[in-house]
Amino acid sequence: MLVYHLPGTFDTREAHLDLLWEAGATGLEERAGLIRAYFDDRTVLPAPVQDGEWRQEADQDWLAEFKANLRPVTAGRVTIVPPWLSAEVPAGQVPLIIEPGMAFGTGHHATTRMAVEALSSLELHGRTVLDVGTGSGVLAIAAALLGADAALGVDIDPLTVPIARENAEINGVPHGRAVFEEGTLGSDLPEHHTPDGPFDVLVANLYAELHDLLAGEYAAHLIPGGPLVLTGILTSKLPLVHAALEREGFTDVHVRQDGEWALVTALA
Ligand code: SAM
Repeated sequence: MLVYHLPGTFDTREAHLDLLWEAGATGLEERAGLIRAYFDDRTVLPAPVQDGEWRQEADQDWLAEFKANLRPVTAGRVTIVPPWLSAEVPAGQVPLIIEPGMAFGTGHHATTRMAVEALSSLELHGRTVLDVGTGSGVLAIAAALLGADAALGVDIDPLTVPIARENAEINGVPHGRAVFEEGTLGSDLPEHHTPDGPFDVLVANLYAELHDLLAGEYAAHLIPGGPLVLTGILTSKLPLVHAALEREGFTDVHVRQDGEWALVTALA
């Protein structure tokens, strides 16, 4: 693997990045005060970027490295693991197997972990759950494994649907207990879905501005008193979410934080 090491960062060398692309770089990466430009062949570079150094490096299997570094994630009563670590789930924990892939939601992001924790603190037996922005299906599957009667996961990205369905199957979720459809709230919510709304619980890992836009829909899709679990919220954006929940008449609002990320729970 041929890599050109250029001192600086994407910020300090912003004006020079195009020169690297134009010279044939196949990828650019910033690491430890260095820009790493990947090339197939050595080439003569223009003057502004000649202060770097060519290096021949051993090929790295990034995917293998990423997979080797994955660890089980404990979130309340649930432990989220990739398939090859399923034997590492401690006794008494509910195993939730997620194949790391194209869809967001391996459990390694603070927002997913906090949302699974929040679901695991609710009594879900006999209840229906709507998961908006389901990604890998992790939250809907967690709900089903925690005893929910039925969970519906929707996502505007159609690529997530087969991934979420496959994850439900890997977890042995009985047919119909975790259902995945392309869609969102409002007019786009799939019309003939099962379970039918209004739902007993609604969970959404999106972002603050979208929660603000969808807050009325959240209220419309929940039973009175139904728990709402929202995350994907940067702590700096909490006021926007608080205002939206107040506007739509939600009560009992609580916030949990993990670093820069927040999770908000409330009752419809
Ligand atoms: N639920 C998973 C989790 O907690 O890890 C994935 C969350 S990921 C941060 C957000 C997901 O929401 C993405 O899969 C994205 O495609 C989807 N999404 C974005 N906007 C949406 C919208 N308006 N309605 C439904 N899904 C949306």
